[in-house]
Amino acid sequence: MQNAAQFSGKKALVLGLAKSGHAAASLLSACGASVTLNDFAPDNGNPLAEELRKQGVKVICGGHPENILDGGFDFIVKNPGIPYSNPVIAQAEQFGIPIWTEIELAYLISEAPIIGITGSNGKTTTTTLLYHMLNIGNRHPLIAGNIGTVASTVASNATVDEVIVLEASSFQLMGVDEFRPHIAIWTNLYEAHLDYHGSADAYAEAKAQITKNQTPADFLIYNADQSVIKRFVENTKATLVPFTTKGRSTEGISADSESIYWLGEPIIQRMKITLPGAHNLENILSATAAALLYGCERSAIESVLSSFTGVRHRMQFVTEYDGRKFYNDSKATNTLATKSALSSFETPTILIAGGLDRGHSFEELRPHMTHVKALIGIGETGDRIVQFAESCGIDIVKETGNLRDAIQEAYAVSDAGDTILLSPACASWDQYPNFEARGDEFIETVQKLKS
Ligand code: ADP
Repeated sequence: MQNAAQFSGKKALVLGLAKSGHAAASLLSACGASVTLNDFAPDNGNPLAEELRKQGVKVICGGHPENILDGGFDFIVKNPGIPYSNPVIAQAEQFGIPIWTEIELAYLISEAPIIGITGSNGKTTTTTLLYHMLNIGNRHPLIAGNIGTVASTVASNATVDEVIVLEASSFQLMGVDEFRPHIAIWTNLYEAHLDYHGSADAYAEAKAQITKNQTPADFLIYNADQSVIKRFVENTKATLVPFTTKGRSTEGISADSESIYWLGEPIIQRMKITLPGAHNLENILSATAAALLYGCERSAIESVLSSFTGVRHRMQFVTEYDGRKFYNDSKATNTLATKSALSSFETPTILIAGGLDRGHSFEELRPHMTHVKALIGIGETGDRIVQFAESCGIDIVKETGNLRDAIQEAYAVSDAGDTILLSPACASWDQYPNFEARGDEFIETVQKLKS
């Protein structure tokens, strides 16, 4: 770890004892920093707290002591979920103490270049696709962020011959200072997390932080089909690489119904691509552009695109049984994601949907319900989504409450050639600890049905 010396003798405050806080505190301590970790919640014998204490970190849990900043810290690393209204953060801002998230630390410590991926939707899919392309293309990628390991841990072990493919949320990007990815991808921008960011502009500005330190030697791959993003990329110094799904273009990467084009030249035929969905075409374009810019051979990219069928729980093709294709899109926890999923299929679809009731409307789905031949409602919103389906004129609607029965029901009302899709348009917390557990149950139940 050549870059460790910069933290030697520094005083660091880490806020939040989650996986990322633990990683940051441990890393800084190993770099010779004097580290305090503070969490509002009591540690209740948390083994992570014990481990840090053994490493010499001062761990204070169960509240934010009023005088905590009297220690005179050089910087703070905060958990991305902690809001800027938190009293310690608010005071630190007044004192002018730099407030980072853990991806800044990852950048400062890393010997490997970073490719950063952000956007409202499609981050994980794009990150995974790009990881596979770079891997097959012998570029030695390491994956970091939501789906992989904590970024600073990955960065601390990375060498110059490797490249970190980093999924970065708007929360994380709020806390960057020098962070400068060599290649940045901005997938899209939809309204989200307004409770945290306060306004749509503030949310977009947080995303735009991904490019703020980029230079003309760096690249920003962005969604040129969204005028709202174009507005934000005008100020970047990075070399711009637009992507569009609206037809062949001589700039950047583009697609029409036949092919994908790089700088206007056809590079991959669409019929070879296995990942379904119009939204996934966007993810494919941006990942392909990044892989090409990073020196991957076209054959490596094509081999991934002709075999990749989706990330677990995101429009994941599970199996075909008795002529029915089963897809697990448990990650679709809002109507926008379910809308994308529905518009990916033209075949008659049996939709399993419903979950945690946040009082949100399903109206946004209406134009995309035309090929839904049956809807099975589950979870807290089961009855509301069933009513919505009836109002769309769908003949077969049932509420089963739980997912296992919903799958049986979906199979019973389906015919060969149909698609059976779990895309709940709701969070999972009414019945499951997370969307992964819901998706796992879908996969297991479908496999049982098959056997
Ligand atoms: P993220 O990591 O940004 O949450 P994922 O790749 O996990 O994104 O996809 C989450 C859901 O968002 C998917 O189930 C899919 O329905 C939808 N989605 C994925 N990519 C896009 C895209 N480019 N545009 C719109 N929606 C998308």
